[in-house]
Amino acid sequence: MSAPHPAGHRPPPAGSGWLPPSAARSLAAADVELAERAAAFVDDVLIPLELAAELAGGGLAPADQDRIRRAALDAGLHGGRHTRADGGNGWTTVQWFLVEEQFGRSTNGLSWYVPNAYNVWKAASPALVERWLRPALRGELHDAYAVTEAEAGSDPSGMTTLARRVSPGRWVLDGEKWFVTFGSVAAVIVVMAYAMDAADGVRRPTLFAVPADAPGVQIVDDPPFTHAYPHGHPTIRFTGVELADADVIGEVGGADVLQRRWFVEERLGIAAHCCGAMLRLLEDGVQWATARSQGGARLFDHQGVAFPLADSAADAAAARLLALDVAERFDAGEDEKLVHGKASMAKLFCSEAAGRCADRVVQVFGGRGYLRSTAAERLWRELRVDRIWEGTSEVQRIVVARSLERRGVRTMLL
Ligand SMILES: Cc1cc2nc3c(=O)[nH]c(=O)nc-3n(C[C@H](O)[C@H](O)[C@H](O)COP(=O)(O)OP(=O)(O)OC[C@H]3O[C@@H](n4cnc5c(N)ncnc54)[C@H](O)[C@@H]3O)c2cc1C
Repeated sequence: MSAPHPAGHRPPPAGSGWLPPSAARSLAAADVELAERAAAFVDDVLIPLELAAELAGGGLAPADQDRIRRAALDAGLHGGRHTRADGGNGWTTVQWFLVEEQFGRSTNGLSWYVPNAYNVWKAASPALVERWLRPALRGELHDAYAVTEAEAGSDPSGMTTLARRVSPGRWVLDGEKWFVTFGSVAAVIVVMAYAMDAADGVRRPTLFAVPADAPGVQIVDDPPFTHAYPHGHPTIRFTGVELADADVIGEVGGADVLQRRWFVEERLGIAAHCCGAMLRLLEDGVQWATARSQGGARLFDHQGVAFPLADSAADAAAARLLALDVAERFDAGEDEKLVHGKASMAKLFCSEAAGRCADRVVQVFGGRGYLRSTAAERLWRELRVDRIWEGTSEVQRIVVARSLERRGVRTMLL
């Protein structure tokens, strides 16, 4: 029997319902409908464009980018948890998780074309919301978020980017940020800096909305990375950039709290993506192993092939339960610090599990698993960064270990 090409992707028959009844049972009807809508968008719009993106080194033709943007807006899949008043969809965390999980089934970061914006805009003034957030959610501009520096990565408190107050209401920003995702296309960069008032000399961590075209903002490096994604992660230098009080997001000195909330959401988003990736990996891997025969038997009938898939299924199921639990706790308004610790645990487990699954499924595909046209190969490369960005696995372990001590083992586990 000849096996299908591993790049072949077969969406489920239309109208059959993407979620099995067992999964749908525990969700509200609106959640099921949203997940099904997101699944159809991924199958019909994103997945067919993956190979073109991969072969182009990440970028898509402008017409294809527009197609994704328009389809996402039409399907109401943009804006994540931002409020309807601000141009988003006002989803619960669980609903947002279900959509991000579906996005995680696609490769090449194609969901980055779906209009969205970082959650810190929730703390911004109405003027900043009008200038940056609303257009971002309409798909008219991008934002970027810049914290990391050459000497301040896992420990951002070591950053040296400084905003000096030069007169009442006026600031001047100097510094350099590394790995700024969307930095090459962003119209506005949310920059984490120490704000310093000459009057007291105290450095207060603060978020500034910096227009990317402001004098003194310069991309100084745009290196290639492992994945073939829509945009790069350039190094951006800020030299004497003039800003106003009105460019501060939230309060002067308020960045740590906003950053923690940002981390919770980003880390849960990564966990959701990893859950979606594992789903895709397992569906592709099981399909391949049951269709291809070697040595007189289906690959699947060799335990050496089936057992790693079984281990991957256990990883994927446990990861999803953990991450969904965190999303539900977030919606239930549980203690912010507890949710922060649990989001770290979910990001740690889901990203490590997804890395294991991708490696196993590449092996199931054999030589075809090393083809860039095989989704498992792309996921194997792309999932690697999920153990690094938004805090490495080691940083998540530090957060989890601290939570175990401060909040107690039972609180963290039960
Ligand atoms: C593709 C990509 C996109 C990114 N996008 C953004 C972005 O948009 N905005 C942004 O601000 N940043 C971004 N980052 C930066 C990312 O968040 C950092 O790379 C990450 O936080 C790690 O920092 P670092 O690279 O400086 O590594 P380091 O902090 O130098 O760490 C190196 C190694 O040492 C380990 N380590 C460090 N400290 C400890 C410790 N105390 N205990 C145990 N181990 C430790 C780390 O876990 C890691 O394994 C991006 C990175 C990448 C690769």
